[in-house]
Amino acid sequence: MNPRRRIIPLFVPHLGCPNDCVFCNQRKISGSLTPADGDTVRRTLELAREYTPAGAELAFYGGSFTAIPTDQQRELLEAARPYVEQGFIGEIRVSTRPDKIDPAALELLREYGVKTIELGSQSMDDRVLRMSGRGHTAEDTRKAAKLIKAGGFNLMLQMMTGLPGSDGDTDVMTARELIKLRPDGVRIYPTVIIRDTALYELWQAGKYREHTVDDAVSVCAEIVKEFDAAGIPIIRLGLNPTDDLSSGEAVAGAYHPALGELVYSRIYLQKAEQLIEKIGCRDTLTLGVHPSRVSLMIGQKRQNIEKLKTKFGIKEIKVIKTEVNDGEIVILP
Ligand code: SF4
Repeated sequence: MNPRRRIIPLFVPHLGCPNDCVFCNQRKISGSLTPADGDTVRRTLELAREYTPAGAELAFYGGSFTAIPTDQQRELLEAARPYVEQGFIGEIRVSTRPDKIDPAALELLREYGVKTIELGSQSMDDRVLRMSGRGHTAEDTRKAAKLIKAGGFNLMLQMMTGLPGSDGDTDVMTARELIKLRPDGVRIYPTVIIRDTALYELWQAGKYREHTVDDAVSVCAEIVKEFDAAGIPIIRLGLNPTDDLSSGEAVAGAYHPALGELVYSRIYLQKAEQLIEKIGCRDTLTLGVHPSRVSLMIGQKRQNIEKLKTKFGIKEIKVIKTEVNDGEIVILP
């Protein structure tokens, strides 16, 4: 997996998916209304060729790729084959459900050179999975992850926070269980309430408490620390903003275009608090951080600075660029 490889996303909305997860309106999430077929693949790749360097990665996102009838999977992959042979496509990835992985499914993906498989594990708590209508268990995720790794594919795992029946502890437990499966990367999606979903109905009926942006920031800060400590890259935090979601389809929940920044900024706040607790309070303080992390330390609307001032009674706090490791904070004289 090359982190600098350009990704050409191709959405296969709800295609082949036998489920109706409470949070999902796949067409709204993907921003696409028609299922993809071979022509869609060719059109997308021809267009992408105009602005994308060779060696790009084609990613089938959205639905559950391996749940699509085999001939349709073949049609999509077959359409991509000439572009792979010409070197324009360097890698292919697909996303799918944990209960739709078996040796035959993997064999087909291998035949077409698929390198990376993303599993929507979402939670490792069976009660949460049941309440969310996922239709699979935590054990399905464990089995699928083992098969994928044993088959030599890259394994990416997706998890959600704030699903029905979950709380911060359940979400951190999910992160720890996913770490045990040694994925090559993870995506974290805090729950967003999207119009026309079962979750929207539950929320309106008072049967589901919204997972707010602040809830998501708190729990994701803990989860990010778990993955960082395990050396597992987080390749996405929060839903990609789309026009549909931003213009009102995301009615409540943890939808924020800069959610990842808020989470990393919270982690900087926590680290600064720990440092200040060690050295004791002062009237003025200068914090040094990596040159690219000054805004994370300061926080949106100077939130972190104001919180530190109030908590420790500090009159003035400066943040300056310093040659330290990414993620490190030092107190300067
Ligand atoms: S399995 Fe995926 S595509 Fe199917 S309903 Fe659930 S989230 Fe949506």
